Amino acid sequence: MSLNQKILENLRDEIHMHTHLYYVKDAPIISDYEFDLMLKKLTDLESKFPQFFDINSPSQRVGGKVSKNFNNIKHDYPMYSLDNSYSKKDLDSFYSRILKKIPDNDLNFLCELKFDGVSINLTYENGVLVRAVTRGDGVQGDDVTENIKTIKTIPLKLNGDYPSKFQIRGEIFIELNDFNKMNIDRTNNGLEPYMNPRNTASGSLKLQDSAEVARRPLKCFLYQVVSEFDESKTQYDNLISSSKWGFNVSDSYKLCNTIDEVFDFINDWDHKRNNLDFEIDGIVIKVNQIDYQKILGFTSKYPRWSIAYKFKTLQVSTVLLSVSYQVGRTGAITPVANLNPVLLGGTIVKRASLHNEDQINKLDLHLNDHVLIEKGGEIIPKIVDVQLDERNLDSNRILFINKCPSCQADLSKNESEAHHYCLNFNSCPPQLTGRIQHFISRKAMDINGIGNETIQLMFQNKLITNYADLYTLKKEDLLSLERMAEKSVENVFKGLNESKKVPFERVLFALGIRHVGQTVSKNLAKKFESIDNLISQTYDELLLVDEIGERISKSVVNFFKNEKNIINIEKLKTVGLQFHSEIKTNVTNVFNDKTFVVSGVFEGYSRDQLKNLIEINGGKNLSSVSSKTNYLLAGDKMGPSKLKKAEDLGVDIISEQDFNKLLIFKP
Ligand code: AMP
Ligand code: ZN
Repeated sequence: MSLNQKILENLRDEIHMHTHLYYVKDAPIISDYEFDLMLKKLTDLESKFPQFFDINSPSQRVGGKVSKNFNNIKHDYPMYSLDNSYSKKDLDSFYSRILKKIPDNDLNFLCELKFDGVSINLTYENGVLVRAVTRGDGVQGDDVTENIKTIKTIPLKLNGDYPSKFQIRGEIFIELNDFNKMNIDRTNNGLEPYMNPRNTASGSLKLQDSAEVARRPLKCFLYQVVSEFDESKTQYDNLISSSKWGFNVSDSYKLCNTIDEVFDFINDWDHKRNNLDFEIDGIVIKVNQIDYQKILGFTSKYPRWSIAYKFKTLQVSTVLLSVSYQVGRTGAITPVANLNPVLLGGTIVKRASLHNEDQINKLDLHLNDHVLIEKGGEIIPKIVDVQLDERNLDSNRILFINKCPSCQADLSKNESEAHHYCLNFNSCPPQLTGRIQHFISRKAMDINGIGNETIQLMFQNKLITNYADLYTLKKEDLLSLERMAEKSVENVFKGLNESKKVPFERVLFALGIRHVGQTVSKNLAKKFESIDNLISQTYDELLLVDEIGERISKSVVNFFKNEKNIINIEKLKTVGLQFHSEIKTNVTNVFNDKTFVVSGVFEGYSRDQLKNLIEINGGKNLSSVSSKTNYLLAGDKMGPSKLKKAEDLGVDIISEQDFNKLLIFKP
């Protein structure tokens, strides 16, 4: 091994170790910043020495590979379901079935949480992850290895004395906090929230673009080694070993000697589960000894040595007192049910989310209804049913409001959208403060020193009405605010000053244009390079941009039509915020003067990656085929009209392979 390769390998090992310490052990020993630097160094070295490419390098975690469809793989060991039990009696009969074949003197059980996610089967060879397959129908599943590699709690390389070849199973899930954050982001961007963490986790595994999967906050607990190896004597030992090899094993398991002990464990978790960061839907009980598991074997559906105990979903009944309405920063109205306070799973519940008008109508809610509430995937509980026999005959139906609860403006609703909106963009208070809060948030301008409450205070004291006002704040104004000492004021100014370095794409996101989230901002910034250029685009021109549809185009044009927004932007320009993309230097000029249209789905790249490659090698991307197009880079599932037009105009139609050749075989 050459010295360079050695350095590279050492660095990779070091990063694997820190990833493990951070994500699995929750005990990092270096700062995020140092970690980022190491990763940056690795990617730099890797691009310098492409000959030492390693498919399991930590740099591969960011994803980027696009799968058109997933290969179907037959499981070496079928992925069975678990038989269910709901009572102590069910467990007793599970035990007596086992006793018919196994002596009870040394029989014991390992109890684990039943993680509510989506299961995955991982294969490791020589300590390296080689394949990840979904459960599918239990007999065969989809090969989702590329997507799985982006999950940081799944080791790409193992430590210690792992068997040379084995398979292990686990559950992929999304923590409740992360799930709620995703939904807040989505609703802020005018998208429908996801229904529950489990479906979102399982949907994420089937995404075609692994870079998108990398952005999803997926985690994994491993719970079952399925191959045999020398030291594999009990489930308990296997969990301990798995953890040593680097797997994320939940430490909630317990060895129990009797069914009474098992039942104690169940009852314990029936209470404690409400404090977990993730969802479980029960407990899994497994015969601990692997030899006994083998004797017991499987039915056609279930292992005979294991059973799930299912918790009852926590539901209570309470009375609906009123419905109030919240206004988000985009003007979206969210109804919230105010309830007679009631204890549900250890917490007092006073409110339940109602999402939108459809939800209210579906439940046919009336005032003072007795409603059943349930803790679902979200932290705020939801109303699942109404007890009609308890309804007063003269109670009033809940009618959705038609005026904004904050500014009394008329609400509007598009057929295609679930939410009502207050269109009083310029003076509806929660929209004004919401927009400023969005502006300072971490993914936008990331202004340290100012928090959401400070914004509220500043707004109430009439120091600011929009985000541009932030930059003209005076020291004495701030000092006049409650709890604002000299030091905090200094921090505010420091934060504002720092924000002048934030790149254009994030400034664009920070402006808070409805439906323009992070990805769209990035696309627009890349495509138009400056705010002035973007402002001058018409609705039809915007439609031509990749992934920009009617909804977004309309929203962008509307935003810039509003004079107040233009004035704010001008002010922000004067202050020195970035309204231009940075000028990129090209890697080569292979594609100088060449224009491309990229269309369809590709094997080795996402469309964005291809476009980037074209640009950094001197070429230009066009969004539609015309006589000015040099190449149509054609992938799978490309629109037939583009193809026909290219043929008619005599444009060169090239494949991904042709493209690779063009890139490589030129100087
Ligand atoms: P079911 O889908 O209800 O038949 O239950 C079987 C599923 O439970 C398995 O496929 C796993 O995805 C899931 N599961 C969650 N936690 C565990 C665990 N600790 N041990 C075994 N299976 C588990
Ligand atoms: Zn309003």
